[in-house]
Amino acid sequence: MRASRFFISTLKEAPSDAEIVSHKLMMRAGMIKRLGSGIYTYMPIGLRVIRKVEAIVREEMNRANAIELLMPLVQPAELWQETGRWDKMGPELMRVKDRHGREYAIQPTSEEVVTDVVRTEIKSYRQLPLNFYHIQTKFRDERRPRFGLMRGREFTMKDAYSFDRDVEGLKRSYQIMFDAYVKIFNRFGLQFRAVAADNGAIGGSGSHEFHVIADTGEDALVYCPDSDYAANMEAAEAIAPAAPRAAATQALTKASTPGTSKCEDVAALLKLSLTQTVKSIVLTVEKEEKGVVNKEVWLLLLRGDHELNEVKIAKIPGLADYRFASEAEIVEWFGTTPGYLGPVNTKKPVKLIVDRTVAVMSDFVCGANEVDFHFTGVNWVRDLPEATVLDIRNVVEGDPSPDGKGMLAIQRGIEVGHVFQLGTAYSEKMKATYLDENGKPQLIQMGCYGIGVTRIVGAAIEQNFDDKGIIWPAALAPFEVVLCPMGYDRSESVKAETEKLYEALQAAGVDVILDDRGERPGAMFADWELIGAPHRIVIGDRGLKEGKLEYQGRRDTEATAVALDEMLAFVK
Ligand code: ATP
Ligand code: MG
Ligand code: MG
Ligand code: MG
Repeated sequence: MRASRFFISTLKEAPSDAEIVSHKLMMRAGMIKRLGSGIYTYMPIGLRVIRKVEAIVREEMNRANAIELLMPLVQPAELWQETGRWDKMGPELMRVKDRHGREYAIQPTSEEVVTDVVRTEIKSYRQLPLNFYHIQTKFRDERRPRFGLMRGREFTMKDAYSFDRDVEGLKRSYQIMFDAYVKIFNRFGLQFRAVAADNGAIGGSGSHEFHVIADTGEDALVYCPDSDYAANMEAAEAIAPAAPRAAATQALTKASTPGTSKCEDVAALLKLSLTQTVKSIVLTVEKEEKGVVNKEVWLLLLRGDHELNEVKIAKIPGLADYRFASEAEIVEWFGTTPGYLGPVNTKKPVKLIVDRTVAVMSDFVCGANEVDFHFTGVNWVRDLPEATVLDIRNVVEGDPSPDGKGMLAIQRGIEVGHVFQLGTAYSEKMKATYLDENGKPQLIQMGCYGIGVTRIVGAAIEQNFDDKGIIWPAALAPFEVVLCPMGYDRSESVKAETEKLYEALQAAGVDVILDDRGERPGAMFADWELIGAPHRIVIGDRGLKEGKLEYQGRRDTEATAVALDEMLAFVK
């Protein structure tokens, strides 16, 4: 590739909506271009990285005997109604109508379609096991798209689906996929961790998430440095003892002492929430006005933002006794009535009763929005139902590991893959069966396995950057080697040697780009440091006189002189 014939468009400054490093650097390096909220054009450099991710994923999937097909982006509503997900998925599922008024889903994943393929194609036990996968565009109308490709609305996922005769078969297929994921993430050259995940609503027995370790990760991972124990926060909390920890009780009691009326007390509760991972609190607010007590129910939803500043509150008017039936419902409420935690608009004392806690999202973090700008004149009424406290199953650093082998540590991660034993959840609803040896129909056991192809690009950057830009792991770099000739158009010998090396590298299968744009050295170097080419070779007259070129690895602080005829071997 010659830079003069390629498209490079770098920026000095990142746009202001880019919050985290990967988003900033991807924008600055010209990898992506925003078209709408959570919707991006993958620009040529970005696409090269995406293609590298895909190639590795595809290779390892094929190696694990998964079979590639390609399922449609637009999928008839009827299939989604069969499994009940048309209703259950709520607003995250993007729906469209055709000219006849028929409804369709834009796929967020493809369980329905792949199960439809299998129920019509698979007749006999002889055809199993089977694993189909595709690498396809997904659409999820995320409530809060952000961080560039990390949480987009349109994104690329590899999703694989295994089909087996029985649970033992499913477990084998699951293990094969798990092992393939380990290979894939190792090949990416990323630091990652596989953690046990809760498989919540879908049920079934096994689920793991693969996380790239990064401080900006939205998830908290709980692990034991002295053993294999590793789980995401939800899974860890699900098995944590329900009894309250002394500190939690104490803080709640303190916060709920009547008559203190201090905003610190609210802060204490919120802080407790922060460390104890309470996820939301439903408050009953009693306002006394003209001798009449008005009750209002507020939902405090404490978000998992890394910036510690967002506490949202949704007011639920006239629903003093309302109980939320599900997490989805809370999200629904919150999504439709957002607002910020601010001062209660009254100088009069207000009674706040912590009505109950509800788990909403993993690992929320919170803090008061502004000092002296939260609830004032508040009384925390000390009548917390016992159950409220007992419901808090929180896991903190230093807790004993469930396997008894040490203490728990917590670290943040970005979910880049998810493997899931679905069992017969879909085959039952969609009647996907095979005939066993006795000619009897049996339900097919399913597993599903996702990898966030485009999210990985962001995650890789979160782990590999410096103040100059991206530092790609070799396997993901848009270009492995960049040739930077000094005076390509002025010096015959520079041009000749550059061309020679360029050809030799190409012939050796190295992904090389020759920067023949005629940029000044400073600007040229800055571009390639920002874009993150792992190897840079500078070809200049001065070095050539001594038969030498300058090599600098992206992490090196200085260049190394390398003899002309040794360079190929040096970078390979
Ligand atoms: P999250 O918890 O981040 O919302 P998820 O659990 O909803 O992700 P899955 O349904 O498990 O996601 O999908 C498989 C993979 O697809 C995820 O592990 C993640 O890498 C990727 N993915 C999911 N949502 C997005 C998104 N909005 N943008 C980019 N990648 C995504
Ligand atoms: Mg999601
Ligand atoms: Mg998830
Ligand atoms: Mg997931």
